[in-house]
Amino acid sequence: MKEAAALHPWARNDYLSSRNGQLHIDGVDINALVEQYGSPLYVFSERQLRDNAESILNHFRRVHRNTTVCFASKANANIAVLQVFRAAGLSIEINSGGEFHKAITAGFQPGEMVFNGVAKLVEELRTVIAAGIKAINVDSLTELKRILAVAQALGRRANVTLRIVPEIKGGAAAGWETGTSESKFGMTRAEQREAIALIAENVAFLKMTGIHAHIGTQVTDIGAYHREAEFLIAYFREVCELLPYPLEHINLGGGFPKNYSSSEENWRTTSGHYQGKYRTDVDFEMLAQTLIRPITESLGEAVEIIVEPGRSMVSDTGVLLTRIEAQKERNQQAMYYLDAGYSVLFDAFIGWYFHMINANRADDVDTHLCKVVGPLCDSSDVYYDIEGEGYVKTLLQQQPELRAHQALLEEVLVHQPGLRELPAATQLGDVLALFDVGAYALEMMNDYCGRLSAAAVMVDRQQDTRLIRRRARDEDLLRFDVY
Ligand SMILES: *Cc1c(COP(=O)(O)O)cnc(C)c1O
Repeated sequence: MKEAAALHPWARNDYLSSRNGQLHIDGVDINALVEQYGSPLYVFSERQLRDNAESILNHFRRVHRNTTVCFASKANANIAVLQVFRAAGLSIEINSGGEFHKAITAGFQPGEMVFNGVAKLVEELRTVIAAGIKAINVDSLTELKRILAVAQALGRRANVTLRIVPEIKGGAAAGWETGTSESKFGMTRAEQREAIALIAENVAFLKMTGIHAHIGTQVTDIGAYHREAEFLIAYFREVCELLPYPLEHINLGGGFPKNYSSSEENWRTTSGHYQGKYRTDVDFEMLAQTLIRPITESLGEAVEIIVEPGRSMVSDTGVLLTRIEAQKERNQQAMYYLDAGYSVLFDAFIGWYFHMINANRADDVDTHLCKVVGPLCDSSDVYYDIEGEGYVKTLLQQQPELRAHQALLEEVLVHQPGLRELPAATQLGDVLALFDVGAYALEMMNDYCGRLSAAAVMVDRQQDTRLIRRRARDEDLLRFDVY
């Protein structure tokens, strides 16, 4: 018999297990969850959330005691999730007045918040300056002037941290890099010189608390973090020369990567792109040594280090359960229709890869290659590559001389596998589980095509489950219409 473990690479997430072929999450049978809460359903593990928070705090603080971890709430601002993180000792990063409201609701204090964004509104600035948040990460000179005006009007002093573009190309895929002046984020050195002069002239209303950079998301190239640390150390010293008082902190942003579970077997249906981007050796200890340690050694223990991880705190804490509602045979291949499409898991739309298994046949070793699709009336609502593979094929037909570059073309253009591997016995009514969906999923759900957004539950540490987001109802679809 083929070793079942070979098909269970997901079991390395030790909170996932299989009993009699049925997937269990922290010991809870997913069939019971779907029966009680319906499908599609997000299931979060409180234990995983806690483990991630404790792990990053332990690894980073062992190297630099004065480290603050501000969870990037845009990755998952569900109130129950935020409360778990607050209890575990994390601070918070917000991106809007809306996220400020959520953070306050979850119990965070303004002094625990850093505020990012490229186009902050006057109203948002008024709120956070009046509340006295820890830092506003300033993205442009126009924004700094806006902050000054708001602070003057309020008679308050705003804490500002300048976001610099370090001109670092992260390991993140093109389009997800945010550390160069080709992206829309941050200020160049020249712009910052002007900004610092303005701050120095207005000490009553502006206090420069630190410098900030954020180079991308799912950055798997460890060298990029080393370059970021080197850059920021030099830049920190440069800025300290220009100010009449010392900077308090250095904010390194987020972007830390996590593995997206998959089997070796599954790789053969994916491109090189997939392997480089979704599998990573980079973990919190490696980051502690590469990103944190150089700063401690160069700038000392006193400076506060802030990091803003989002994805790496939550991606591997959530599973999406979705039922097969229809089935067809196409070109001798099975095609399965799920009740969750990109309105429930938006990143599937941009070609993000999520590994899936049949949660009712989790031990089956007899598999077949098939297509898996969502329920929306849109041909891009699929869990396989419809665009990239087509582009590559067309390009190679039109320009055969490009064949020599096929691997490169696939790396850039092909995002998803062409086919998925599921048990051959898979049938209508089975529940599939998509792994590592904890980041950027709940936040991006919508009700396109009148489909109701999914519920979410938390499995707590006593293996009890509770609803943390209710399923939408028909009347929710009308909540913004005026008629
Ligand atoms: C999105 C974002 C983060 C979090 O990024 P992850 O890749 O989820 O870790 C951190 N800082 C800033 C400024 C961001 O925009």
